Amino acid sequence: MGTTRRALLIGGGGVIAGAAGLAGRRIWLDREPAALPAVDGSGRLLWQNWAATEHSYPATRLAPKSADEAAHLLRRARGPVRMVGASHSFTGLVTTDATLVSLDGMTGVLGHDAATCQASVLAGTRLYDLGPALAAIGQEMPNLPDINKQSLAGGTQTGTHGTGRAFKAVHGGIVAFDIATPRGDVLECSATSNPEVFNAARVGLGAFGVMTRYTLQNHPLQRVKKVTGLRHREELMEGWDDLVRRHRNAEFYVIPFSHYGQLITHDETDEPVRPRGPDTDTDGQMKLKMARDVFEFAAPLRFWTLDRVIADMPDQIAIDEGWKLLSNERSVRNREIEYHVPRENQIAALREVVAAIERTRSDVFIPVEVRSIAPDDAWLSPFYGRESGSIAVHTYYKDDYAFFYTLIEPILRRYGGRPHWGKLNSLKYDDFAALYPRWKDALAVREALDPEGKLLNPTLAKVLRRG
Ligand SMILES: Cc1cc2nc3c(=O)[nH]c(=O)nc-3n(C[C@H](O)[C@H](O)[C@H](O)COP(=O)(O)OP(=O)(O)OC[C@H]3O[C@@H](n4cnc5c(N)ncnc54)[C@H](O)[C@@H]3O)c2cc1C
Repeated sequence: MGTTRRALLIGGGGVIAGAAGLAGRRIWLDREPAALPAVDGSGRLLWQNWAATEHSYPATRLAPKSADEAAHLLRRARGPVRMVGASHSFTGLVTTDATLVSLDGMTGVLGHDAATCQASVLAGTRLYDLGPALAAIGQEMPNLPDINKQSLAGGTQTGTHGTGRAFKAVHGGIVAFDIATPRGDVLECSATSNPEVFNAARVGLGAFGVMTRYTLQNHPLQRVKKVTGLRHREELMEGWDDLVRRHRNAEFYVIPFSHYGQLITHDETDEPVRPRGPDTDTDGQMKLKMARDVFEFAAPLRFWTLDRVIADMPDQIAIDEGWKLLSNERSVRNREIEYHVPRENQIAALREVVAAIERTRSDVFIPVEVRSIAPDDAWLSPFYGRESGSIAVHTYYKDDYAFFYTLIEPILRRYGGRPHWGKLNSLKYDDFAALYPRWKDALAVREALDPEGKLLNPTLAKVLRRG
């Protein structure tokens, strides 16, 4: 055998061994994480969040049927008492080994006022039930988040938001609420009744009491046109201000390791209904994962391949009532960090985040989400007093996410970002105190309602009490 042929064979063998090694590594990394025991040694049932980042085995589970019962139970319960909605927060807001309170028994629309377009809604109502219930009375929530699995209280307590320059986060529609406090009373709160509690607890991390009922300022039911399409990502970044101005709701996703992004817009229309087709999100994300698995260590090939696959995909159009279109299915389990920066900093921050991912994190394949949110006046709202732009980075649930804290968070903090209360971050009391102008006022209200700290688990104590 000549030297050249032998060298080729050895070289070819090396390539095959290398490829097999990489495939083996990916198969190893892709194995399913071990499931936690459904019951602990004391017979307590497992509680776990959607992302499987947090869990606990609460000793007692309570499901009050009225505000008075909630107040009574709360006064007597052993702490930490934590309330749970749909368990879709990524952080440890809900964990407790003592008492878990669910409002799944307090759901539905209690009444409405057609003249003011307001509705009275029980706090445990899931957003996916609220859409059709409000539509039946000719109303809709002005805006919705990306998914509609949350409970009304669970979503609003963390400042859950959608997108749209003129639209506040979901809590922006709250004009009044009832809250059962650890002292055992029920307070009716609005801008004129208990206004301090209204301002402090509207976004309250479940740290002020059990929210039991809301009055929501809704909009008349409206048909919208949803357009989903792939665009060059430079066009999206350069044109973002214009997109935000021109569309009722605009958002986009940067597809890492491609030159493209996905733009989604919603605008009011009188055109005839064109129902949305089947959700393609899972399929799309799994294709991006496949490209990651094959080209993880060949970025130029990954760009080349994705660009070619994406370039010719046509726009998708759907026309229907907003509550049917604004939220989507997100069935690919992920981990997420999201910060809200002042809008004027958003694209500069986004460029740094995407560059950092493409420089050092070839494992990331889930698109980076970009939205805009109007300012509001809830003291603990991440959008308090400023028009905001959100940037969210996701990882697949089997992948490492420690880089959120070392790579992504420092960039977003440098641009003045406040973290989403329900999403991963590493901030503590002093950090929040510097970010929220009414921080101390809000915490004074909290301490007055819960002087014994019955509602504080370790996660909340780290945030709400100076350590
Ligand atoms: C797939 C996915 C998509 C998401 N999309 C978006 C999005 O588009 N926009 C966005 O902003 N966020 C989004 N999130 C984050 C999510 O909206 C928030 O974490 C939200 O708080 C989850 O609501 P939940 O009902 O699951 O509440 P939980 O996570 O169960 O609880 C959240 C907080 O609310 C408190 N709470 C619950 N019920 C009560 C009550 N009755 N009284 C007082 N406190 C209570 C809890 O104690 C806790 O502090 C998403 C999360 C996931 C997993």
